[in-house]
Amino acid sequence: MTVEIEKRRVYAIVDFDALDQNVQAMEEKLPQDVGMMAVIKTNAYGHGAKAIAKHLEDNDRISGYAVATAEEALELRKAGIGKMILILGYVFEKDYEDLILQDIRFGIYRKDVAQALDAAAEKCHKKALIHIKIDTGMHRIGYPVCQESVEEIKEIAGLKHLCLEGIFTHFARADEADKSYAKKAYSLFKDMIGALQKEDITFPICHCCNSAAILELPGYHENMVRAGITLYGLWPSEEMDHAFPLHPILSLYSHIVHIKTLPAGSAISYGGTYVTERESRIATIPVGYGDGYPRSLSSKGYVLVRGKPAPIVGRVCMDQMMVDVTDIPDAEYLDRVTLIGQDGNAVISMETLGEMSGRFNYELACNLGDRIPRFYQKDGACVDEMNYFA
Ligand SMILES: *Cc1c(COP(=O)(O)O)cnc(C)c1O
Repeated sequence: MTVEIEKRRVYAIVDFDALDQNVQAMEEKLPQDVGMMAVIKTNAYGHGAKAIAKHLEDNDRISGYAVATAEEALELRKAGIGKMILILGYVFEKDYEDLILQDIRFGIYRKDVAQALDAAAEKCHKKALIHIKIDTGMHRIGYPVCQESVEEIKEIAGLKHLCLEGIFTHFARADEADKSYAKKAYSLFKDMIGALQKEDITFPICHCCNSAAILELPGYHENMVRAGITLYGLWPSEEMDHAFPLHPILSLYSHIVHIKTLPAGSAISYGGTYVTERESRIATIPVGYGDGYPRSLSSKGYVLVRGKPAPIVGRVCMDQMMVDVTDIPDAEYLDRVTLIGQDGNAVISMETLGEMSGRFNYELACNLGDRIPRFYQKDGACVDEMNYFA
């Protein structure tokens, strides 16, 4: 059951019970003592990082959080989040001291950065905690697997104000049916760890698995994994085995704010790209691309009204769009509209929306706009709220 929310323009419900089920399902894939880091970059893929982290603070299966930027990390600490936080991407010097003082972990793949960080840590009278990033085929950031990298990491290990807490890599192709690329990447990663071990450089924490690898590359879990998209009940790719029990945690709703009957031959929305072929009942929904709803769904996508699909007709505007409810005769002014989620037996998933709009499910989730309030539900009650305007 979803909680009752007072009628409003648009809102998302994020279901903490479904989130817990996803964590539990992944946990069952992992050997005991393997930590799980929740990847909550880009505002937890649009779901609201502070609320998600606050909820996961009480979940013993979650050992910490991964974010992309310094700002994201600091926002979490400010909200009282105490578990380990790792920044996956590059950090600019202006933020070093704040981050060191708050025990936020840095992903490191350059000696110059390590040296600057060491100097900042000395100033803070504290060690900076770092995780060395290895490039095993993504070619984005990270040390390549070679002897020169070993030499450089040795120098970094000699810096007095750094603590080498972890080593990690990221798979470029773990979500494909063909796992040979991921296998090659993993063996490179292990080679690097072995080469460093020979130099007496070891790391308490070692991690490489994203969601796809958690599900489909058992044996690669090392002692920590980084769960992203699957936390939210979404699929890393179409090529994954969809037998795994994932529960989408976000639903998106709106309400019909106008409804009218138009004669055949009526053009709808900007450009008149859609013209009614019959007398039609057209409903207006106050959501548009300004909320992150894809404009490419113009005359292509659909929403759910009274458990039935209502096709989008004409162009999606910035703040509104029109749908055809001719075949849903009981549809009325102020009826609830489901943009993502389930209504009766009908479902629109983030993946369906992605297929229809020619976009990526991750991207759609991340782009859900600030104008959309998120309500967090647990055991049938609303327990938290994220509202940009509040
Ligand atoms: C985003 C990201 C993840 C999580 O990926 P999912 O596919 O969402 O599980 C893990 N590690 C790194 C380095 C990332 O950038």
